[in-house]
Amino acid sequence: MYRREAIHVGRAYSAHTRVSVKSLASPPSLTIALSKGRICDQALPLLSAAGIEPLEDLNTSRKLRIDTTLDQVKLLVIRATDVPVFVGHGAADLGIVGKDTLLEYDGAGLYEPLDLGIARCRLMVAERADAPVAQMPSGRRLRIATKYERTAHRHYAAKGQQVEIIKLYGSMELAPLVGLADCIVDLVDTGSTLAANGLVAVEHIADVSSHLVVNQASMKMKHAAVTAIIGLLANAVNERDRTAA
Ligand code: AMP
Repeated sequence: MYRREAIHVGRAYSAHTRVSVKSLASPPSLTIALSKGRICDQALPLLSAAGIEPLEDLNTSRKLRIDTTLDQVKLLVIRATDVPVFVGHGAADLGIVGKDTLLEYDGAGLYEPLDLGIARCRLMVAERADAPVAQMPSGRRLRIATKYERTAHRHYAAKGQQVEIIKLYGSMELAPLVGLADCIVDLVDTGSTLAANGLVAVEHIADVSSHLVVNQASMKMKHAAVTAIIGLLANAVNERDRTAA
């Protein structure tokens, strides 16, 4: 898949393979942007298998730029929605971000070389179990509450359905209960949040997991170091999947 290359950023180990270190006079620095919480918790074991361990606890440290066991690799801790922005603009070389966020991102400048298979869930349409949309008077425009404005627009446009999108930043599940919206578009994992709020999932929009993204200029200018990181993380993903099988 990815060519295993000498890593220019320090000493690193994949699950089975020690990646040789090519000492350069000035190895390129690399920054990897990711968000706290679920994505960070599930990305850390993969980063660790790639030889990249933060020197501080990302979830508790107040620092936003964290040193790692690889001298030249720093982690940037930012909001999930900002990860593609930082990477697209070259403020970070690489990033780890959910497909849901990538679907909403409107910018350019990113490669998406690797599905890390973490923070898996589904982007779904849900409605009140006691007030199905199918029983609403026809001709009325549906109101959809979501933080995934673009993705929701695309979903309904593809069905030729005109809807009103109500942008929210959280607690989407509340919107149908208080009459703010008819449906929501949100992430569903176990389904227990929907059930706790009297909602049922009715349409599947996309499967979601976190992906490694790379700034296009970094891929050119820091090619060996960036492809080494991609290779190490690909090894870590393969090894995790092999042992889980
Ligand atoms: P659940 O009750 O397990 O279906 O989880 C649903 C809640 O967790 C919703 O509020 C989602 O926005 C959030 N959630 C589920 N999976 C993820 C994920 N992979 N990344 C971010 N938020 C998620």
